[in-house]
Amino acid sequence: MSFPKIVAPKLFATSKSKKKGKRNFSTPVKGKIWDRQRGRCDECDKELKHDQVDFDHIKPWSEGGPSTAENGRALCSGCHAKISRKQNSERAAKPKKPKSTWPKLFG
Ligand SMILES: [Zn+2]
Repeated sequence: MSFPKIVAPKLFATSKSKKKGKRNFSTPVKGKIWDRQRGRCDECDKELKHDQVDFDHIKPWSEGGPSTAENGRALCSGCHAKISRKQNSERAAKPKKPKSTWPKLFG
């Protein structure tokens, strides 16, 4: 007797949504951000289109940033991609220790 394998991942997906708040900005929150920025990209000031705007957490959701208008901003897809890439590389980069120039010979 075998069970369909698809059941397990579905259960995981629903338990995840119990986390406080929602990751996605709600429609009224998006409207507030949009009005605040007058429909322009927060980074490059390009005029945004309603169907092409990306909403970004100023403090990342993964670090406890809420999905509120205060913690959100509207970006064009180009800037959003650029910022996501930057955040990912910053997370991956480990803090660098200054290289010692003291000769090993002296301990
Ligand atoms: Zn932009």
